[in-house]
Amino acid sequence: MQVAVSGGKGGTGKSTVATNLAVALHSLGTDIVMADLDVEAPNDHLLLGAELANEEPVNQFMPRFDYSKCTKCRKCAEVCEEHAIVTLKDGTPFLMPVLCSGCRACEIVCPVPGAILEGFRTIGHTYVTQTPYGFTLVTGKLREGEERSMPLVVVAKKKALEIQKKEGGMLLVDTAAGTGNTVSKAIEGSRLLIAVTEPTPLGIHDTELILKLGKLMKLETWVVVNRSDLGDVGKVAEIAEKYGAEIVAEIPYSENIVKSYVSGKPIVLENVPEAKIFRDLAERVTAFLGGGE
Ligand code: SF4
Ligand code: SF4
Repeated sequence: MQVAVSGGKGGTGKSTVATNLAVALHSLGTDIVMADLDVEAPNDHLLLGAELANEEPVNQFMPRFDYSKCTKCRKCAEVCEEHAIVTLKDGTPFLMPVLCSGCRACEIVCPVPGAILEGFRTIGHTYVTQTPYGFTLVTGKLREGEERSMPLVVVAKKKALEIQKKEGGMLLVDTAAGTGNTVSKAIEGSRLLIAVTEPTPLGIHDTELILKLGKLMKLETWVVVNRSDLGDVGKVAEIAEKYGAEIVAEIPYSENIVKSYVSGKPIVLENVPEAKIFRDLAERVTAFLGGGE
């Protein structure tokens, strides 16, 4: 059982919705594992007031050349689609690590046994953190300067699924912003996609993209409108209707939410009116997953 929280563009409050939903679901008695797959800028742990723990490196294959064996035939450079191998005039190959995707095509095509050796580089880390709210948070974090986030999303999601299998319950995934392939990978396998947006022209444009993705992946899709009093929710509703989605929550701009964000304390546990929005959303998710919708 998997639910994904996503958003067409960054800064819409996706992580605020995801973390508050996680805490609310858990407080309703739903066992959950949360996965922060926004690997370029994971921040769910900050919003949950937790310190990342149990760090493990995510390594990726990278060729190393044994120049005593290499015949300088250039085959490795020719096959590399990423142009990660450059050759000198005489054919001597050099690697530009940051461009390497780890596909091993160079290793496969090299005609000289042992000329390409096994190397690796650490592209990021995964973390498995016990939150103060009683559920596990799996986080993927890409190393600064690395550009390929897909391997990290794959490894972190696999880890989250293994923990979910062991512990039972539901997997709540917080994806990156946008509609790229890492977002699709994070969403894959979900029963429900919750798209968080705001009623600004850019927000509405990007909502359409995420709703298109939801439709393409044949997912039940809901929309949460954040800072709903700062624009025209009617326009979001029009787009949502076009894709068979429904607005399930509207969150007005709130100082209380900003304060909770800064202090790392989910607002859903506070005695303020905004908390009810997240509790209601959690109840709706529970009803949906239980077959109530
Ligand atoms: S592993 Fe793939 S991307 Fe990396 S250098 Fe070899 S062919 Fe290029
Ligand atoms: S394919 Fe192998 S032998 Fe040829 S240049 Fe590359 S490493 Fe050297």
